[in-house]
Amino acid sequence: MNILLTGGAGYIATHTCLELLAAGHEAIVVDNYVNSCPEAVRRVEELSGRSVPVYEADVSDRAAMDRIFEENRIDAVIHFAGLKAVGESVRQPLRYYRNNLDTTLTLCETMAAHGVKRLVFSSSATVYGVPDEVPLREDMFCKGCTNPYGWTKYMIEKILGSVCEADPEWSVVLLRYFNPIGAHESGRIGEDPAGIPNNLMPFITQVAAGRLDHLNVFGNDYDTPDGTGVRDYIHVVDLGRGHVCACDYAAKHTGCEIINLGTGVGYSVLDIVRTFERVNGIRIPCEIAPRRPGDVAACYADPSKAKRLLGWEATHTLEDMCRDAWHWQSMNPMGYRT
Ligand code: NAD
Ligand code: UDP
Repeated sequence: MNILLTGGAGYIATHTCLELLAAGHEAIVVDNYVNSCPEAVRRVEELSGRSVPVYEADVSDRAAMDRIFEENRIDAVIHFAGLKAVGESVRQPLRYYRNNLDTTLTLCETMAAHGVKRLVFSSSATVYGVPDEVPLREDMFCKGCTNPYGWTKYMIEKILGSVCEADPEWSVVLLRYFNPIGAHESGRIGEDPAGIPNNLMPFITQVAAGRLDHLNVFGNDYDTPDGTGVRDYIHVVDLGRGHVCACDYAAKHTGCEIINLGTGVGYSVLDIVRTFERVNGIRIPCEIAPRRPGDVAACYADPSKAKRLLGWEATHTLEDMCRDAWHWQSMNPMGYRT
């Protein structure tokens, strides 16, 4: 299939792009580089030995999107483009609602106008809000999100569900990612956050690189085995493979399916720190800090639906994730700027 990746220069999209190319698909990228750079796609081309057409454009620019659909035969779209920083979304809610909703509406209108009706969307476990129980299943009721970023994902899921109800020819897969970490084993592509990282693994790798001096552990008094927060960390290459399976599924089915992409295993902050230290032989100085507002104690997936519908399950271990995250960071201490 010819697959358009919106936000295709980003962290998850570049890893997905490599997996799509390896599976025999063609990829086309559109990105405005608000949180990425052209070098990322160049490295995907280098690793795959294939060329990937790239359009620098905002996905909410209808004329630019029409041009992409006119110049390429597109069979399916994976919609990664979006702003994703939780804290920033609290400070700049309008920017988040505008960007994440507008890109989705424009994309769907453009797809409909060009007769393309297969879509895979980057949703998030954040739509589960504060869970009553874990593991999280797709049919659990979402009681409400804890920040504007989460609400954008929630609203987009509803919009895409309505699109499928109105036109039964559409096929939409809403992928709820848990916590993607790690990098391609080559160390050539990886996560390259701007400024001080908000997420745990890029913070740890920057402490390891000497860019930051210690890790603040946000709370050690949660109701979890060691008191620190528990999450379902998934290797970004496994996540990329999950998108290939979702595209195959979308080509054979119609309607809207919500599917968790996680491992089903929860690890604590201290599990991550200790595993990172052990596999990489680097000490990560830690200080216990207050809980981070909005954080939940534990969040991990029931991944059985992904296995049942997509035939997909995660294969990488936590050791792989810690090793590959550090390999990327140590080979690119300043991210793509080096
Ligand atoms: P990322 O920031 O690396 O990738 C997003 C890409 O979208 C960037 O390249 C950015 O420049 C681009 N973009 C944003 N707005 C755009 C616009 N208006 N027009 C064109 N391009 C635009 O983030 P990521 O971690 O790779 O996440 C990809 C998707 O997955 C996002 O939608 C994110 O919300 C979602 N997601 C991420 C995580 C995570 O932990 N990384 C978890 C759950 C869901
Ligand atoms: N965390 C932490 N210190 C940090 C960043 C994160 O202790 O500098 C903890 C956070 O409280 C949570 C876990 O690490 O328990 C994962 O946080 P992240 O922001 O990566 O993912 P999310 O909370 O969005 O699932």
